[in-house]
Amino acid sequence: MDYELAIIGGGPAGYSAGIYAVRAGIKTALFDKGMGGGLAAIAPNIENYAGFSSISGVELMEKMKDHAKQYVDFHEYGEIVDITKKDNLFTLTTSEKKIYQVGAVVLAMGTEHRKLDAKGIAEFEGKGISYCATCDGFFFKDKTVCVVGGGNSALIEAIYLKQIGCKQVYLIHRRDTLRGEDAYIKDAEEAGVSFVLNSVVKEVKGEQVVASVVVSEADSDEEHEIKTDGIFVSIGVIPQNHLAKTLNCDLDKWGYVKVDGQMRTSVKGVYAAGDITGGLRQVITAAAEGAIAALTSTEVLGKQYPY
Ligand code: NAP
Repeated sequence: MDYELAIIGGGPAGYSAGIYAVRAGIKTALFDKGMGGGLAAIAPNIENYAGFSSISGVELMEKMKDHAKQYVDFHEYGEIVDITKKDNLFTLTTSEKKIYQVGAVVLAMGTEHRKLDAKGIAEFEGKGISYCATCDGFFFKDKTVCVVGGGNSALIEAIYLKQIGCKQVYLIHRRDTLRGEDAYIKDAEEAGVSFVLNSVVKEVKGEQVVASVVVSEADSDEEHEIKTDGIFVSIGVIPQNHLAKTLNCDLDKWGYVKVDGQMRTSVKGVYAAGDITGGLRQVITAAAEGAIAALTSTEVLGKQYPY
């Protein structure tokens, strides 16, 4: 066996799992398909993680990564593409065909952005279409942008884009009411965001880069074209559950991995933590779940921890 525990995913859940696992005497590796950080790293500001009244997502994630690296073997760009289980031993294969055998697994791969299904979306990705205002908003200073979505994330992106100096920010939502919290709706109104409600994105147009978006009214199908320099898609997330499916873990109807109170999945020796399990999907809950998952894994590794 190469490691007792493999943690897959370098976000708050994975980092916290790594710290707790090694401190409990478990030989642990953490694999991330990139450099780690997950979706939390693109949050402009995190103001509800206890101990930090305000910190950028990227800074908090860097701090967590540095902390975790004091303990775990961190495999950056170590994407796990396959995983099998035989006789209580898991075999993990990376995209570079490296093989690791471990006794237990924590799935902490989080979620990824949901893509908009409209003409021109794929064509203009990176050419005016973005999924992250913190990352790309700066390019649209003094320009017109559209944010698509009606939840908290879309509202926060729209407010942020107005704050950094976008000339005009439209928020396009397919219903006539927004899903996001009243406080964010009020902030968006006060920031001067223009709401385009009851409108479905049909097509993105342009030559080399985005120039306009065509929306149709949800109830009449009447179409309007809005001139815009950029489009920020913020329509929610989908769980990265490919490996959970490979292992035959039970999923809920949205594709999140089902866990019990100790973060056990339906497969013995497989635990899950963080956004991949659904629920509140906050940094603080992900970190807590990571700790629980790591310590529960002692049950299949012949170790004890006091609780
Ligand atoms: P969300 O709440 O699931 O909202 C996604 C939005 O996108 C919804 O308005 C949805 O429309 C729309 N949508 C989904 N698929 C679409 C499609 N194919 N075409 C057009 N629109 C589509 O996602 P979120 O805003 O990313 O938030 C995720 C979770 O994190 C939520 O629980 C949220 O409250 C939480 N969050 C909290 C904070 C905070 O500061 N407290 C900040 C950000 C996020 P419908 O309304 O029609 O379904």
